[in-house]
Amino acid sequence: MIKENLKTVEENIKAACERAGRKREDVTLIAVSKTKPVEDIMEAYEAGIRDFGENKVQELCDKYEVLPKDIRWHMIGHLQKNKVKYLIGKTVLIHGVDSYELACEINKRSEQKNVVSDILIEVNIANEETKFGIRPDTAFALISQIMELSYVNVKGLMCIAPYVVVSEQNREYFQKMLKLDVDITNKLSNNRRMDVMSMGMTCDYETAIEEGATMVRVGTGIFGERDYSKKT
Ligand SMILES: *Cc1c(COP(=O)(O)O)cnc(C)c1O
Repeated sequence: MIKENLKTVEENIKAACERAGRKREDVTLIAVSKTKPVEDIMEAYEAGIRDFGENKVQELCDKYEVLPKDIRWHMIGHLQKNKVKYLIGKTVLIHGVDSYELACEINKRSEQKNVVSDILIEVNIANEETKFGIRPDTAFALISQIMELSYVNVKGLMCIAPYVVVSEQNREYFQKMLKLDVDITNKLSNNRRMDVMSMGMTCDYETAIEEGATMVRVGTGIFGERDYSKKT
């Protein structure tokens, strides 16, 4: 089932890239494996997937221990400061940074391990009360501040758009994200670039790609519905 789902998602990504005149290589598919067992991850791995997303530190660390070392782990969930120390060195990218304090903790723990951690700034693009992320108009100030830190590297922006039934409904938010990314890049000196745009989930990744996403995070569309009543 996972293999077939991946084929469909891959076809959809290709088609969206074509519609937008973009290259397939410019979009990374992150398979969101939260709550799913390692057998499911291995099935996707054997189908060629190397980028996986988790939203809990403990779960990511447990899976990191037992799964192949060439997997690129993405921390996509809200990160608590007291958990940062367990995570550093295990992720290729931390998607949900939304405060200077959190960035400082990542910086401090990264320095201790002598690594530089790549991060994204989470933007609450639709101003939803229930969501984490910063207000778009505060993004430039926060990014400038974080860029002073030596052991974190801001690679771009991330958002979790509203849950929608029709992908099209989120187009305006993806357009806002792209505009924000361009505005910030233009304001930044010394050719620092904000190349990564992590946006789009099962309900809206095709529209996100049409509007410039470089990473899409797809869970249900690959692994099926999540069952939160079961322990993994
Ligand atoms: C769970 C999750 C996803 C994947 O959601 P689906 O709707 O299952 O594709 C993507 N991004 C984040 C931040 C998530 O927590």
